Amino acid sequence: MEIENKFPGKDISEDDLKTKFPLAAKKDPEHRSRFTIAGAEFGGDLVPVFAGPNMVESESLIVETAKAIQASGAQFLRGGAFKPLTFPYRSSKYNETREAGIEWLKKAKEATGIGIITEVMEEKFIPLVAEVADILQIGARNMQNYPFITACAKTGKPLMIKRHFGCSLRDWLGAAEYAMVEGNEKIILCERGVSAPHTHRGSSRFLLDLQVVPAAQEVTHLPVVVDPSHATFWAPWVKPMALASVAGGADGIMIEVHPDPKNSAVDPLQPLNFAEFEDLMQSMRKVADAVGRQV
Ligand code: PEP
Ligand code: MN
Repeated sequence: MEIENKFPGKDISEDDLKTKFPLAAKKDPEHRSRFTIAGAEFGGDLVPVFAGPNMVESESLIVETAKAIQASGAQFLRGGAFKPLTFPYRSSKYNETREAGIEWLKKAKEATGIGIITEVMEEKFIPLVAEVADILQIGARNMQNYPFITACAKTGKPLMIKRHFGCSLRDWLGAAEYAMVEGNEKIILCERGVSAPHTHRGSSRFLLDLQVVPAAQEVTHLPVVVDPSHATFWAPWVKPMALASVAGGADGIMIEVHPDPKNSAVDPLQPLNFAEFEDLMQSMRKVADAVGRQV
């Protein structure tokens, strides 16, 4: 494709595709990465779904959630044991579950066989997390922690790199290239909302950048997942944005689901309950069908 380079160093140029991120760049218009993780194919017609609580709060909560989301058709259980909590103070509820949480994810995997995606935040915990996770999640806050990305990539585990809320597509592809240059080809991108001034609702934390999906797909062969839960920060907007994401060509969807959202230890305004998630899955199937994909 031809790209006009009006703002060198900001816009993506033809030269960037060859010299800045040659591994992440598409080689031809049809070029799409296809790979299978835990039985689910990325980059094909399937739109894999990741679902689960913000935080792995307890063994019973995570096992119960794994069973419910699997019954609704999700391929991956999400949930953080290591969390980039915004504030340093902890209480009995607002508290990472860390090593115990990883153990509970393992129990959920044993109970259901579902794939696991979970965040890793510190290099010293990479081996522990990689033992249980099918996909290592690199959070938005670590997207530009390049030595950390390199260390995660070296495990050979698939990585999902969430887009930092202030980064351009060009920056994001730079992060993916750091992983790919280590020989790791199973790299997934995830849009999760950007910081922008809001006129429609001051309390909305981020703005879902839906048009980054086709923009990314123009220049990279990597699958692009959308996380409307973190973007909207508001459960009633998750369904419309998830449906729009599927319609707009997303290669995967990440949804926060909690058995009792208002009692979620973190971000209680954004998770769907099990019934809402089931309803969303049914609606996403219809939208996927309309655009030649499958959920
Ligand atoms: C998450 O997925 O739990 C998370 C913390 O996301 P982000 O890095 O996008 O804020
Ligand atoms: Mn979160």
